[in-house]
Amino acid sequence: MNEFDFHRATTLAQAVQSGAQSGTAQMGAEVRFVAGGTNLVDLMKLNIEAPRQVVDINGLPLDKIERLPNGGLRIGALVRNSTLAHDPNVLRDYPVLSQALLSGASPQLRNMATTSGNLLQRTRCQYFRDVAHECNKRNPGSGCAAMDGFNRTMAILGTSDACIATNPSDMNVALTALEATIHVHGVKGDRTIAIRDFYLLPGDTPNKETVLEPGDVITAVTLAPPAPGSRSVYLKLRDRAEYEFALSSAAVIATVQGGTLRRVRVALGGVGTVPWRSTEAEQALENKPVGVTSFRAAAEAALQQAKPREGNAFKVELAKRCLVRALTLATTQA
Ligand code: SF4
Repeated sequence: MNEFDFHRATTLAQAVQSGAQSGTAQMGAEVRFVAGGTNLVDLMKLNIEAPRQVVDINGLPLDKIERLPNGGLRIGALVRNSTLAHDPNVLRDYPVLSQALLSGASPQLRNMATTSGNLLQRTRCQYFRDVAHECNKRNPGSGCAAMDGFNRTMAILGTSDACIATNPSDMNVALTALEATIHVHGVKGDRTIAIRDFYLLPGDTPNKETVLEPGDVITAVTLAPPAPGSRSVYLKLRDRAEYEFALSSAAVIATVQGGTLRRVRVALGGVGTVPWRSTEAEQALENKPVGVTSFRAAAEAALQQAKPREGNAFKVELAKRCLVRALTLATTQA
């Protein structure tokens, strides 16, 4: 691990001021914020991340979950994943979020990991995490060892010729289905970003993963009130039952009236370079009868643009079955 300066920010202004030095005026003065440290510290040990300055933001007052006047929910950026998963409001109104959180990592990691850290969790591509291999995300222009390497766990949606790495988070998939809003404080003040606009497809610049700018601090995530009568499910398929990333997952929020699907939201995990909202599946489902015929048609629509590689071709059918099963669970729960 490289040497770095360590500071504690006690105000948002301090954090923004420190972060704004990253990648701008001072070449090489990369600044990283740390909260739970469950991702950043690992990457620093592996020499994937080598910031010159680490700013501890745990002292910022961003650890509350608050009910909003409109019936929605405001989740502070520093709320721990375990706290969020067990919050009574989340369990009652957004079970898809609780289920997604509890399907990720281990209890110890969830006790440390934060909402904002999870939003910014970096890929588990094994070549990204090993400096012996070429990786456009870690070292732009160097190539991509995964293209013709071991790509069983890689993405099949949203890929580019430069990168096929998946977004590893479960929480992000649930938040995408919930159409969450991300609140940011930066050098120009406060702004909000819809989660569908937050993540960038890899394109030619897989090193740029979100629309955040130097100095931006995520302060909160807000959720709209739950859709009346809706049910939600997060289903995750993986190589082992615990402490494993998704090969395929699906977050589904569905409202059914008289056997007909009305409002449906679908997001997929484990298959996209970003948490993958499937409006194609949603359109295929709305105003259709509940049943496997509708579900399978939606799954076909969701995966129509899939571009598998040799090692991950199985994910196309796996993702379809995952979505069909999640839709079945969401529309037949007691
Ligand atoms: Fe790097 Fe992306 Fe290729 Fe993995 S898939 S080696 S993260 S460029």
